[in-house]
Amino acid sequence: MSDDCIFCSIVAGDIPARTVHEDSETLAFLDANPLAPGHTLVVPKAHHQHVEAMDDDTAAAVFGTLHEIVDPVQEAVDADGSNVGINNGEASGQEVPHVHAHVVPRFEGDGGRPIHAVAGSRPDLSDDELDAIREDIDARL
Ligand code: AMP
Ligand code: ZN
Repeated sequence: MSDDCIFCSIVAGDIPARTVHEDSETLAFLDANPLAPGHTLVVPKAHHQHVEAMDDDTAAAVFGTLHEIVDPVQEAVDADGSNVGINNGEASGQEVPHVHAHVVPRFEGDGGRPIHAVAGSRPDLSDDELDAIREDIDARL
């Protein structure tokens, strides 16, 4: 637990939240400032700032909870789909420094954008550049 983390305070029960799911490793609750009806956040109970900081079991538990809640969340608000995503790091727009996955219900014609819209201008990468990036990632795994 981190003392000045709002999501740790929610996990500890010190700040109220509209909890929709709780298990030993994760908590899911409604976003207080929703982008759509049913906008839900899934957090690990342990404080980790970034996705890469989570241990394997915690990461699996977060995805397991996502998998469990997506359908009930969508059905509860009669959504046609949802965007599931994580702002990972300040540069990506992460404001609360405790890993949280967003489930944002989507509705036909809601005027929202796909996840492809989150990044800046598209880079024009050659096949060689793509190959080099793949090799760099592979070398680090
Ligand atoms: P992010 O930009 O990915 O860090 O998003 C943080 C999210 O947390 C925003 O969608 C906020 O509306 C939400 N949020 C912040 N404080 C609370 C809170 N006390 N309870 C529920 N959601 C919160
Ligand atoms: Zn925290």
